[in-house]
Amino acid sequence: MTITDKNSSRERPDRGIRGVTILGSTGSIGINTLDVLARHSGKYRIVALTANTQVDRLFEQCRRFLPLKAVMLDPRAAAQLKEKVQQAGLDIDVLSGVDGLNAVATHTQAHIVVAAIVGAAGLLPTLTAVRAGKRVLLANKEPLVMSGHVFIEEAQRCGAELLPVDSEHNAIFQCMPDGFRAGNPAAAVRRIFLTCSGGPFRAATPESLAAVTPEQACAHPNWVMGRKISVDSATLMNKGLELIEAGWLFGVTPDQVEIVIHPQSVIHSLVEYVDGSVLAQLGNPDMRTPIAHALAWPDRIESGVKSLNLLEVARLDFSPPDMERFPCLRLAYEAARGGGTMPAILNAANEVAVQAFLDRRIGFTDIPRVIEHTLSSLPASRDVQLDAVLSSDLRARDVASSFIAAREPRVGQGVS
Ligand code: NAD
Ligand code: MG
Repeated sequence: MTITDKNSSRERPDRGIRGVTILGSTGSIGINTLDVLARHSGKYRIVALTANTQVDRLFEQCRRFLPLKAVMLDPRAAAQLKEKVQQAGLDIDVLSGVDGLNAVATHTQAHIVVAAIVGAAGLLPTLTAVRAGKRVLLANKEPLVMSGHVFIEEAQRCGAELLPVDSEHNAIFQCMPDGFRAGNPAAAVRRIFLTCSGGPFRAATPESLAAVTPEQACAHPNWVMGRKISVDSATLMNKGLELIEAGWLFGVTPDQVEIVIHPQSVIHSLVEYVDGSVLAQLGNPDMRTPIAHALAWPDRIESGVKSLNLLEVARLDFSPPDMERFPCLRLAYEAARGGGTMPAILNAANEVAVQAFLDRRIGFTDIPRVIEHTLSSLPASRDVQLDAVLSSDLRARDVASSFIAAREPRVGQGVS
């Protein structure tokens, strides 16, 4: 090979090497995925990396991992990245917008697409990857919560593999019988136990919750994660979203899922079979384990996660969740049981409320109030096709935003 062959050889597929696109590579899941992939450069090649606006971080990742393509959702950020890439003499094609995300989600050399964008913004590119028949590693749970019906149906129609990366769902997947495929009901499974750390306010009094700041809410005791999921973990909405996610992935009803508070985060979830057997998956709380599992499945690869020291763990505790102190979990159960577009409305109102909390426009205990108001203001439809879901998402965002705006003190009026 001569130097001038470089471009053509980069476009040429290597036998046995799996191409990977990471949607949301600059976030917590994206960074953990790159850490695992860096340990296996002979097995995987990075096809594309994407981010929203973080130019410097994506540029550093481009320099280190030399993807074929890099996408920034924001066109101005894409122009800045392009300039940096050119100045550094890197041979990387820089794209922008949702079209750019869709292009790398369907790239012929990407066998695996890691869905690690946060929130509903990940829905369309992830669905595009599913429709292209990819192996899709699902960290981004919100799209499945909104439109699980569409995802499961399209995955089956297009031959895509949906592999859960959310640690609980990955644990459940690992405890499922051989041959199990996401989206099908599992034979002989009686119940699923979804474990929950309880978040940073597990033992907080109801009065102290009202004064919680974004910094306190984002300081999770066991996991380091993006800000949105950190707040969701603090309100327990994360477990509510996971309840709905489990319903789609494992074909179980909300009443077949039991949520248990397990503060050590060592058992990542459990599956009970009809004969009374209960299988669990354990490990240190480190997202590189589920990421490595889903990348290599059905094989296993090193993830860099240190061995679990059971003697150090010493004890495992379990208790029921408190739905009065954490009303988000009750609201999620209601949406899960209600079905139709209710989960999409719940998710949209939650996204708006969490952002308003992070922006210090509302308090921590206002988050469930915004969601409850939105759920009771909008009639849920039984229609679960994509158009109905997307229009419910938009309407819920409007209702939630207006509710928040109406409660804010107007400029010049002060707070009475
Ligand atoms: P994060 O905020 O750290 O990263 C989000 C990524 O998405 C970033 O790369 C960001 O640039 C990109 N992004 C944000 N908004 C975007 C938009 N509108 N369009 C395109 N890209 C956008 O989030 P995270 O903690 O890595 O979580 C990602 C997803 O994985 C979430 O859905 C979360 O619920 C799920 N998840 C995360 C963890 C975890 O440990 N972090 C565990 C389980 C599930
Ligand atoms: Mg989880």
